[in-house]
Amino acid sequence: MAKVISVANHKGGVAKTTITVSLADALARDGFDVLIIDMDPQANATSLVYSFDEPPAVPIEMVLENKASIAQAVIQSTRIPGVHLIGASLLLGRVVRMMQFSSFPTTSALAEKIQPLHDAYDVIIIDTPPSIEFLPANALAASDYVFVPVQSGSKLSLIGTDDMLQFIEQGKKTNPKLHFGGAILTRHDARKRMCAVTASAFKDFYGKCLESTIPPTTEFEKAEALGITILQHNPDLSASDQVRKLAKEITGIIGLVKRDEEAEPVEVQ
Ligand code: ADP
Ligand code: MG
Repeated sequence: MAKVISVANHKGGVAKTTITVSLADALARDGFDVLIIDMDPQANATSLVYSFDEPPAVPIEMVLENKASIAQAVIQSTRIPGVHLIGASLLLGRVVRMMQFSSFPTTSALAEKIQPLHDAYDVIIIDTPPSIEFLPANALAASDYVFVPVQSGSKLSLIGTDDMLQFIEQGKKTNPKLHFGGAILTRHDARKRMCAVTASAFKDFYGKCLESTIPPTTEFEKAEALGITILQHNPDLSASDQVRKLAKEITGIIGLVKRDEEAEPVEVQ
């Protein structure tokens, strides 16, 4: 069974997409079979991992609208070796509005659709838009863990934490297998006083912050402009090292093992 994780925060620009693609790359380099699902109508993960110019032939919204099967939506050949993608296009926003205003809006649509993929991947990472509405709700309903990237050093980033925590609690009610994996401090520079202050506030609010943090560096933007991950851009950067540490920590938190190494049930003689 694949472990499913969502990367969510209703704040924009906090590195949800950056963490999604870097984590996917780091886990693939560790030998895991990885699938990214882009649930953001801005389709940034799709642009980064697949193409800046062309939307996918079968984006996630066609699956949600029952116009295609989930298997048809999987793109196996992406810019990151070992990482497959189910992409989104800008039309996802329109489809969501239709689904939201249907008589019975469902948060379990994605969870149902991805069922057939559980045996094909070790880990599925869902990138989400900056909201606490329909799409992230569907992502949480399909997930075992949710991780929340937060921007260290920014006082404004602390505002709205309550809403995010409540959203996760609601997610747990509809999906009892959902766990809060923890907050991930991004753009964190431990030498800066404001980073130390906000790090301790985030720890208080969220209860769980990962040990691994991501440093501030323009190298992420450079990699993004080239359509590659930070590890592909330069594996020797300290940011790349931090990404690998983050991947190791998340591997431990979610108990990720390769499917072929999962314990076989002992046969009773
Ligand atoms: P989100 O998906 O939460 O909206 P993104 O992942 O798109 O956020 O990141 C927003 C911008 O910040 C991007 O241009 C990205 O390259 C940049 N960025 C992400 N992480 C860092 C970091 N640690 N240091 C500096 N810039 C970063
Ligand atoms: Mg994003």
